[in-house]
Amino acid sequence: MKLFDAHCHLQDPRIFNMAPQLIQTSLGLGITHFAVNGVSEKDWHLVKKMSDHYPCIVPCFGVHPWFITEQNAGWLNTLKQYFNSTPSAAVGEIGLDKGSKGKEIDLTTQIKFSATTRTCQRIEKTGFSSLRSCFW
Ligand SMILES: [Zn+2]
Repeated sequence: MKLFDAHCHLQDPRIFNMAPQLIQTSLGLGITHFAVNGVSEKDWHLVKKMSDHYPCIVPCFGVHPWFITEQNAGWLNTLKQYFNSTPSAAVGEIGLDKGSKGKEIDLTTQIKFSATTRTCQRIEKTGFSSLRSCFW
C-alpha cells in the first residue's frame, strides 16, 4: 500500500535533525510523499530546501494561526515569491484555531489573515488547512 502523509512539519526545529531518518524509515513503510507545511515565513526557506533535496516532499507555504502576529509587513509578497519559484508547492499551513493557544489570538484577526486563502485561490494552489477546535 502506498501512503501520502498529507500534513507534517519535518522542518520543525524539534525534529529537523531527525528528518532524514524519519523520511528514510517512512519511505520503507510505504509512505511515498510528505506534505511539509511551513508555519511562518521564518521556516519557508527550510521547507523549500527540504523539497529541493527530497523529491518525496511536497512543499507547502503558509502561516499557522499561532504565528500570524509574527509576520513581517511584506509576508504576502514573500509568499508569492516562494510560489513563483516553486511550481510544485501547495498552500499550507492556513486555517483557524480556537484551541488552547489559538483562542489567545483574536478570531477576527485569524479570519482576516485567511486572505492567504484568497491568495492561494488566485494562484490556483492546493491548500492544507489547520482547523483546530473551530467547529462551533
Ligand atoms: Zn500543521
